[in-house]
Amino acid sequence: MNERQTKVAIIGAGPAGCAAAIQLKRAGIDPILFEKYKIGGLALNANLIENYLGIEQGITGLEFGEKMEEQVLSLVIDTIFEEVEKITIEEDQIVLSTKKTTCLCDYLIVATGSISKTLGVKGESEAEKRKLLFYEPIFVPEAKITDSKIAIIGGSDAAFDYALNFAQRKNEITIIHRSDKFKCLPLLYYRVSNLESIELLNPKEIKEFQFSNENKLDLLLDDDSILKADFALVAIGRKPNNLLLKDIPKELFENKIFTIGDLVNDHYRQISIAAGEGLFCAMKIIELI
Ligand SMILES: Cc1cc2nc3c(=O)[nH]c(=O)nc-3n(C[C@H](O)[C@H](O)[C@H](O)COP(=O)(O)OP(=O)(O)OC[C@H]3O[C@@H](n4cnc5c(N)ncnc54)[C@H](O)[C@@H]3O)c2cc1C
Repeated sequence: MNERQTKVAIIGAGPAGCAAAIQLKRAGIDPILFEKYKIGGLALNANLIENYLGIEQGITGLEFGEKMEEQVLSLVIDTIFEEVEKITIEEDQIVLSTKKTTCLCDYLIVATGSISKTLGVKGESEAEKRKLLFYEPIFVPEAKITDSKIAIIGGSDAAFDYALNFAQRKNEITIIHRSDKFKCLPLLYYRVSNLESIELLNPKEIKEFQFSNENKLDLLLDDDSILKADFALVAIGRKPNNLLLKDIPKELFENKIFTIGDLVNDHYRQISIAAGEGLFCAMKIIELI
């Protein structure tokens, strides 16, 4: 087991955690940043980020993530690519545990973002296991990202953003939404409506996922029709990724342990908000130290 010690540890290298890490480093404090996947966080999924100041023509999520990664690496921020599985409190210290590392810290920033809601219908977890259903585009295997028939389930910004993303790569897309009204930005609706490769199917609900062919997905709809797809993407909303926090004593919050970004912002989930909170939180910790 690797043993580490630091004044400040950060869980999550999305916009919130990275902004905090950068500000701490600039103040001469060396944080340890834990990330279970890649620097960039949820933003890696974005088709085009158009509301970030200073990037007039927009930037793809993958390019934005690369820029974040370059900045973090150029500042030599100590980043450990492992999943934090447990937070415990021992006397005055906070202890983070991954499978390979134990890290003691005085202050902890938790920026673990959100997780996707699931539909909860029959066959959903089996479809996920068979790699026929995903909750984020970045996890779709390379072999499936072109020339596929894709079912996107959801009616908000994320569903429309996923559709615009995959429409650029010769895919045939159906957006299925349970309500007769979509909840996305009018701009995204307009862009989707102008593409022949995207069909809108609503109001329709998914009753079940079935598997008549090993490499395909059958979506049984509420009118008992079947839609065949190479894979499905579920974008029906997200919830806080807060499991790690369930046993933490309340008095430690805003004092030793700080929660920021999408993890705490129910409706206001945006990069600039998350990054701003990272900066704000780092400045508070710098004052405390
Ligand atoms: C399709 C899509 C398009 C979007 N487009 C835009 C846009 O155009 N403009 C905009 O402002 N916002 C956009 N957003 C929202 C934006 O991506 C989020 O608001 C932002 O990424 C939140 O940052 P965060 O750091 O709080 O969380 P996240 O970005 O979710 O980062 C959390 C990080 O924590 C890591 N993590 C979680 N648990 C652990 C653990 N136990 N151990 C180690 N690491 C862990 C995760 O792997 C992740 O990297 C979009 C979102 C989506 C889904």
